[in-house]
Amino acid sequence: MTTEFTTAKELHKIDPVFGQASFDNHEQIVFCNDKDTGLKAIIGIHNTVLGPALGGTRMWKYDNEWEALNDVLRLSRGMTYKSAISGLNLGGGKAVIIGNAKTDKTPEMITEFGKYIHSLSGKYITAEDVGTTTPDMDLIREVTPYVTGISESKGGSGNPSPVTAYGVYMGMKAAAKYKFGSENLGGKRVLVQGTGHVGETLVDYLTKEGAIVTITDISESRMEEVAKKYNAAIFSGSDLYEFDCDIYAPCALGATINDDTVYRIQAGVIAGAANNQLANERIHGGILQQRGIAYAPDFLINAGGIINVYGEIVNYGKEEALRRTENIYNTTLEIFNLSEARNLTPYQAAMAIAEKRIAERKLEYSK
Ligand code: NAD
Repeated sequence: MTTEFTTAKELHKIDPVFGQASFDNHEQIVFCNDKDTGLKAIIGIHNTVLGPALGGTRMWKYDNEWEALNDVLRLSRGMTYKSAISGLNLGGGKAVIIGNAKTDKTPEMITEFGKYIHSLSGKYITAEDVGTTTPDMDLIREVTPYVTGISESKGGSGNPSPVTAYGVYMGMKAAAKYKFGSENLGGKRVLVQGTGHVGETLVDYLTKEGAIVTITDISESRMEEVAKKYNAAIFSGSDLYEFDCDIYAPCALGATINDDTVYRIQAGVIAGAANNQLANERIHGGILQQRGIAYAPDFLINAGGIINVYGEIVNYGKEEALRRTENIYNTTLEIFNLSEARNLTPYQAAMAIAEKRIAERKLEYSK
């Protein structure tokens, strides 16, 4: 059988790994394959200057392997900056398992994946992400100590999502203060896209404060359940991005701010939990800035989850995790002010602070 790329010379042209746009100097990429359990996973370790690379494992039915590789690279790079800006002594890493979490996942597959993590001797530490759960982390814990987000009954910090939602809520309040002059979200019209683990708790905070919440989710049953529980409206229009609202909260998957949507968004503030919301950080971040839309950088305001699981490494409890997460409010405001002072997008301002911290630590090591 002939394939499109048959010779090493031709393969070289497509630069499959190091040449990916999202490769961005990853330290290590591990491809995991187990024939017996059907495990196909990729672990991306972007940067370990500040500490071991910690980031969750996503299980997703990718259309192809390129998509999976690109996703893990983007996500793991994002973790480097998320931990750096949050003041944690952690590097950036992430893993993806290729497959449908509902139909393909088995305990044997997860255990096998845990063994791969163990083989990295602590350079990568995992946690939950979309498609993996606290019980999955408990299973991984049976074969390696390099896992966080395990059950509270087993001495872990439990599901990180509620703390992530708290951080998003804090970041949203800071963005509202910057854009509208008040952190009070009462009466503000908020569109929450994705009402999963994080989205639901966010809806809870918002409705308690008196925000007018509209939700959307690809899962009808999920949407109806959340709408009923919190008395939220379900989006029923034809164009989600043109929906007239004050705040747009992307809490599903990434890249929803892209060429197709960036000029249609009506909100004055964007603040949500999804990772990598900007399809292109420079281009789409810049357009939002020009349009006067206050974009709260995703990797800054969704750091509650990692702040929570970090407690399992340095031994602090829920109260301290919430206190540190609350500080996302102050950091977000600082970022908006810095972006204005230096004529940067908020994303670029947040990146500049994170990069400075990593560079300073690197310098310390070299002395
Ligand atoms: P989840 O899987 O529990 O929820 C995601 C929800 O989004 C699901 O209900 C799903 O049906 C819905 N969804 C998927 N595609 C959609 C679409 N196109 N439109 C509308 N809804 C859609 O995940 P989660 O834990 O709530 O995380 C949400 C996002 O936040 C993810 O991008 C995740 O990477 C990010 N995040 C989560 C955490 C955490 O602690 N859980 C931490 C940081 C970042």
